[in-house]
Formats: sequence, structure tokens, C-alpha cells
Amino acid sequence: MSSTTNTIIPDNTEILIIGGGIMGLSIAYQLCLRGLTDIVILERSYLTSGASGRNGGGVRQQWSTENNIRLMQESVELFRNFATEFKLNTWFRQDGYLFLARDKKTIGQLEKNIRTQNQFGVPTTMLSPEQVCEMIPELDGTDVIAAAYNPTDGVLFPWPFIWGYKEQILNMGGKIYTFNEVVDIDVVPNGFVTHTPKGSIKSKRIINAAGAWSPNIASMIDIDLPTTFVRHEICSSEPLKHFLTPMVSDLSTGLYFSQSMRGEIVGGVSVKGQPSSDSMQSTFAFLTTYAFHLSKIIPLLNSVKILRQWAGPYDISPDGNPILGAPKHIPEFYFCSGFVGHGFMMAPIIGVYYADWLANGMMHPIFEQYALDRFNKKNIPLEKETLIIG
Ligand SMILES: Cc1cc2nc3c(=O)[nH]c(=O)nc-3n(C[C@H](O)[C@H](O)[C@H](O)COP(=O)(O)OP(=O)(O)OC[C@H]3O[C@@H](n4cnc5c(N)ncnc54)[C@H](O)[C@@H]3O)c2cc1C
Repeated sequence: MSSTTNTIIPDNTEILIIGGGIMGLSIAYQLCLRGLTDIVILERSYLTSGASGRNGGGVRQQWSTENNIRLMQESVELFRNFATEFKLNTWFRQDGYLFLARDKKTIGQLEKNIRTQNQFGVPTTMLSPEQVCEMIPELDGTDVIAAAYNPTDGVLFPWPFIWGYKEQILNMGGKIYTFNEVVDIDVVPNGFVTHTPKGSIKSKRIINAAGAWSPNIASMIDIDLPTTFVRHEICSSEPLKHFLTPMVSDLSTGLYFSQSMRGEIVGGVSVKGQPSSDSMQSTFAFLTTYAFHLSKIIPLLNSVKILRQWAGPYDISPDGNPILGAPKHIPEFYFCSGFVGHGFMMAPIIGVYYADWLANGMMHPIFEQYALDRFNKKNIPLEKETLIIG
């Protein structure tokens, strides 16, 4: 088995994937499964260096749009089988997601979402404050009016998915080059020549899977990708005796937290008024905001010790939906970004859709719906996802 390497890259490949996050790896894995193994992934750093190694591991089917609900139903099935398929412990557990509402408008929105989710078979129900407190006796339910709960949502530990995809890609003949930064791309007849400080590579196709850095890659071929890099912070506490089963998200504050299988409380919150930045630095403002909201909702946690704090990029498109597919004038350059704070959970199925298209010519309608040119069609209202955390 060859290994991930940072040596000289080959001159040629059928498909070049830029970015070794969960999206690039998932697509590469699914392409290899379909026999398309002439693939090179170029990653400028190490494989978990981007958002894929820095996220909260939440996996949910509670969404407001049909697209996201269906997408996530399929992705959950793939997550469920991953441990067996890849022979890895993924710590994926379906212990539910609880969205707390403290005002009537939010309840109206959740009720609408629940109707749509139920229509597609997601068993979400509305819980009363008493039911919420019964589920989590440590939770201070003051002002909570209701909560949406789906028992089949869950949480996972992200890194094994990266390791699993990587091993399988290499086993099947795909190549991964870490510490190889793409610095420029030339459009040439029948493809592209991509440049890195360690050499250049020609490819027929490029998949831009550089996450929040995708606009930099797109700009190398003069495409303006309208996604924004927004720092999102998160932290993890000392391990505690288990008391919390579902992932909890308070929609009034943007706070979310879950308890890992090792007992740590892992969570984040949006911090208002922070200057927009592409920095991945941690801030004290985040810690104090998180501590304030968390100890208010679970008073028991007011003296818990935070052991690790880190930040990563949210990658945000103008309508909160991803940008997929290829532009008409450069049809072999594919987008895969704009997944905000939920790209990890969507990556397995996005990989399947991309591979079905590129290897077998079966194009899923999502590639048309989430095409870049939707932002130019001023008369067509964009379907906005409303259940976004953070
Ligand atoms: C704090 C936080 C919490 C989150 N929580 C969740 C959650 O609970 N559930 C969920 O589903 N999602 C969550 N997300 C979002 C999720 O992590 C991302 O949507 C997902 O990981 C995006 O994957 P990606 O492969 O597109 O991007 P990334 O993982 O960022 O990968 C892109 C890669 O491209 C590389 N790259 C960039 N430029 C270049 C270049 N020029 N040349 C070569 N390589 C380059 C980067 O180094 C990076 O490794 C969270 C994100 C953050 C930051």
C-alpha cells in the first residue's frame, strides 16, 4: 500500500482534487469504488487541517428544506455503515438532536419543519418543556416553550472518517499528496495545468474541494465564487460522568453542545459583533459567551473546566446552500463548497452523487439546483435553509 506523501507529484492525472478535507476524500473514495482510480488529491497542509478536522461532529436530518432532509437521510445511512465498511470505530451514535425554542416565531418555524420532515419519514416530534426536562433533568427549562426532537439524529468523531477514506483511496490506487499547495491553474486544451511549488500536473478535470478557501482556487481561473470564510469557534471540556444523551441546540442564542463518548462537553456558540476574519485564532470573547450561555442552561456546568479551544472556517454561500456542479464555459471544473456548518455530515452523500455523475454519467438534480449561476437568476427566489446553527 502506498502512503500519503509529500514528495514530487505526477505529471498527469484524469481527475485532480484540490483539498484533502472530507469532501475531497469522500468524492475520491466513491470515484475509486467505481473504477476511476486515476485521481490525485493535493492538500496544502495535513489532512485534518481544515474544517473537517475541527468540527463538532453533529449529524442531523432536521432541516427546513426537502433537499437537505433527503440528502441527510441518505448520508445517515452511509454513516451507519461506515464502521463496518471501513473496519474503524467511528463513535457514531444516534442519540438524537434537540432544538430548543423560546419564542412563538421559532416554534412556528419548527412546526413547519417537522411537517416537512415527517412527510419524508424523519420521526421528529415537538416536545413540551416538561418532556425536555424529563429527558435532561440537569437542564434549566425556564423560558423554553417547546423543542423539536428527532431520535435518529446523532454525533460522530470526525477524524476516523478522514483516516478511513484516506486508507481506502490509497488501497484502490488513488494518490494523495499532503503539504502541496496549489498556487495557480492554467486552462489548456482538454484540461488544466495546476501548479504547486513542488511541480505542475495536467488533468482533464479539477474538483475544487478547498472548502472555505475555494474562492482562492476559483479565482485562479477567473471565477468569482461568492462564498465567505467565517471563523467559528468551539471547545471541549474535561470528561464528566455521562448525563447528556442528545445534542442540544438553543435556537435563541446559537448555543449547541453534546457529550462525547469519553464524557467531554463539546460545543460552540455564535459570538456577535466579531470582525469578519479568515483567522483561525481562538478568542476569550468566545469562551466567555459560551460559558455564560452554557452555565445558564445547565447550571451544573458552571464550574466545568475547558481543556481545549479551537476555531475553524464556516464556508457560507449567499443562500446558505452549497455551490455544486461546473460552470458552462469551463465544464470540467467542479465546485464543492458553501456547506456552512454542516458539510461534514453531507460529505458522504455528496461523494456518491459526484462519483455517479463523473464515473457513470448519472447527474443528480442537485447539481442543477445548486449551480453557481442560480445567483444570477434574479427572478427565481432562492430556497433558503432556515435551520442553520452558529
Ligand atoms: C467549529 C466548526 C464546527 C462545525 N460543526 C459541524 C458539525 O457539527 N457537523 C457538520 O456536518 N459540519 C460541521 N462543520 C462544518 C464542516 O466541518 C465543514 O463543512 C466540512 O468539514 C467542509 O469540508 P471540506 O472538505 O469542504 O473543507 P475542509 O475540511 O476545510 O478542507 C479543505 C482543504 O483544502 C485545503 N486547501 C485550501 N487551499 C488549498 C490550496 N491552495 N491547495 C491545496 N489545498 C488547499 C485546506 O488545507 C483544507 O484541508 C463545522 C465547522 C466548524 C469550523
